[in-house]
Amino acid sequence: MMRKGVLAVVLVMVLSATAAAESTYLEQILVRTGASLQWDPYRQHGTISRGSEMVSFGIGRETAVVNLEELYRIEPPRRAEGSILFGPRFVSLALRLFPPRETLRRVGAIFIDAGHGGRDPGAIGRHEIEGELKELREKDLVLDVSLALARMLEERFPDKTIVLSRNDDTYLTLEERTDLANAIPMAPNESVLFVSVHANASLNTRARGFEVWVLPPEFRRRNLVSAERTGVDDPDVLSILNTMREEELTLESVLLARNVLSGLDAAVGDRSPNRGIREESWYVVRNARMPSVLVEIGFVTNREEFQLLQRRDYLQEITRGIYNGVVNFVDNFEEVGLE
Ligand SMILES: [Zn+2]
Repeated sequence: MMRKGVLAVVLVMVLSATAAAESTYLEQILVRTGASLQWDPYRQHGTISRGSEMVSFGIGRETAVVNLEELYRIEPPRRAEGSILFGPRFVSLALRLFPPRETLRRVGAIFIDAGHGGRDPGAIGRHEIEGELKELREKDLVLDVSLALARMLEERFPDKTIVLSRNDDTYLTLEERTDLANAIPMAPNESVLFVSVHANASLNTRARGFEVWVLPPEFRRRNLVSAERTGVDDPDVLSILNTMREEELTLESVLLARNVLSGLDAAVGDRSPNRGIREESWYVVRNARMPSVLVEIGFVTNREEFQLLQRRDYLQEITRGIYNGVVNFVDNFEEVGLE
């Protein structure tokens, strides 16, 4: 009795260690293959299909059924915290049945949000330069950069939709900006990138430099994955799918931020300090259901930086830096994905 018990415990430990090391989440399979899931919560039974091919499985069952007739032995799929985890045999079966397409992950659109506008000037910098009082308004600076960035991206990616939140001196609420971005139509494996452009101000007039903000995962909004889109109606599964999507978005946002930051560093790092990646619960980033970053191009309150930001050629270099970062991110995203 006892020996059997010990053996069982050891076996369970070995099995769960293997499972943990080699398990694949449902959504990873769906994202990689572009297949979709039908889930029956009462029978704990699912069917993954793409085109005319399908494979069915049940929680805890050792067989998967391909196209309603062929049986395959698999590691029993299991639920962990409401999610479904599959073993390597099921994963290779799914990949054979639904070979990943060449470019599965694609950036379909890039949304450029020029901060502020209209009655909201954003940060204002005023400095006396050579006896003359000069003024810079954030809304004008970021519109210049955003317009130029959009033009460059349109040229580089003629097959992607480039959308500006505003292309003139218009006022938009933060909600209107994210609504515009969230309304861009996407194919299931397409992403929109959200890049918000701002300029900084500080009571500390010595503060200067550029920085890129991302959102920490705990601030991400739920309901990124909809029941309609996945065909999943089990709230437990939807909830875990949402968590995974949140993590994926956060990871993608951090990668995008890193790329933009190094683009800026290469472009203007010799004149403006790199303040790094920052995390905050910015509304404008929080409510965008896509990889999102907020770029602060420099401080209008710092005298030296003010003088730089006044110059057209400097703004062009800033734009070039952001552009290079976005292009790098897109190239990597579409080539290898994150898996
Ligand atoms: Zn701002």
